[in-house]
Amino acid sequence: MLEKMKEEVIRIGRIAQREGMCKHKAGNFSSRDEETGYIVVTPSGVDREDLVPDDMVVIDTDARIIEYKKGLRPSSEVLMHIEIYKARPDVRHIVHTHSKYATVFAVLNKPIPAIVNEMLLLNNQDFAIPVAKYGRSGSDELARNVAEALKHCDSALMAAHGAIACDANSLENAYLKTCYIEELAEVYHHTLTAAGGKEPPVLPFEEMQGVAYPAKIIFPEN
Ligand code: 13P
Ligand code: ZN
Repeated sequence: MLEKMKEEVIRIGRIAQREGMCKHKAGNFSSRDEETGYIVVTPSGVDREDLVPDDMVVIDTDARIIEYKKGLRPSSEVLMHIEIYKARPDVRHIVHTHSKYATVFAVLNKPIPAIVNEMLLLNNQDFAIPVAKYGRSGSDELARNVAEALKHCDSALMAAHGAIACDANSLENAYLKTCYIEELAEVYHHTLTAAGGKEPPVLPFEEMQGVAYPAKIIFPEN
């Protein structure tokens, strides 16, 4: 069931692990099938390099397991994934990472402001990366708090934990958003350090709203 989706979840999980975004079995990945509403999620505590499609867990939004391999359990954060899918009917893909610089600001409980234009790629309406309130790993509270933070944006930090992003179209896009979170967090960290802890200038809301592909480029007529 949902073989193509399982393969794609494994593909992105491997890329994330190879690129150092979720080392040592950290993080988790899921996609939701539009037709059945079923969620394909990574199993808990398995190295992404070792994953095969049969290892993937299929679960519904009541947390009822539809398909699994004996001995494997769905990600311990699957309730968080489910809660996000419930809060965001448009979302079909979720990536959770423990990338280093993002986690630094998650631990500090410090949102990341719009310091560079790249913030636009995160699809966060107010052009900042918020921090979802703390909840113990695997708990309903974490699920609620993260879903709340992602109600009106696609990317967030998770207090004292890591980062999360979602996307309506592809798991690859959701993963890219976690990469942009990490890049922004690294730049923000270095900027604060270079300025002796002083906050850098933040791009005004109107400025961010005005960014667009240049209208001056003229395509040949067909
Ligand atoms: P799982 O291996 O259970 O998905 O847990 C990894 C993780 O990131 C916990 O927050
Ligand atoms: Zn985690």
